[in-house]
Amino acid sequence: MKERIEYLIKRIRLRGMDKITYDEIATWPLEQVKELEKHGYIRQIEDADGITCGQCDEPCYKTVEVRKNLKTGELIGTFFCEDEEYGGPVTVELKRLHLWEINIDKLKESPYWQEKIEDQYISFNEAKRIVGFEDKSYFTRLANKDIIKDNGKKGQERKLLLSSVLLYKNQRENEERIKRADELHEEENAIPDRH
Ligand SMILES: [Zn+2]
Repeated sequence: MKERIEYLIKRIRLRGMDKITYDEIATWPLEQVKELEKHGYIRQIEDADGITCGQCDEPCYKTVEVRKNLKTGELIGTFFCEDEEYGGPVTVELKRLHLWEINIDKLKESPYWQEKIEDQYISFNEAKRIVGFEDKSYFTRLANKDIIKDNGKKGQERKLLLSSVLLYKNQRENEERIKRADELHEEENAIPDRH
């Protein structure tokens, strides 16, 4: 259980997302999911209306249409992936739409909340999710310029230092905040004087 709770804590802290999809915990033993539910760490909520397309390289979100398989009478989900190479109609099991909400307050009560999060190397895809970029190659440029630290490896083996990615994200957000504040300031100054 500890391992799973730590995962949930890490996820909340680093990504700030409080929903987990079926795909994310598909490899977890069912009894562990039940256990987490029983203790109130997660709660199953209404199904999602779509999933992340696993068909192609792009992690794009696809709305899933629920249809009846006329041969078996079973309900199935379908969507269409537009990828030129790997795309086409895709059929998925409806359980993949299942969604859980993480109970942050409950996690804060757990003994693991206070523990330090160890630094680690993460994949470009994970970095992309954290920072919210569309383009993976942007990280290659950042790593090449040493703005984000990597593990010194090449190709698929190349990974990025989590703390470095988070620091970059933080800086970027601050820059945006400053820019917005400046714009607001300009707008305020642009209001004509009525006197
Ligand atoms: Zn796709």
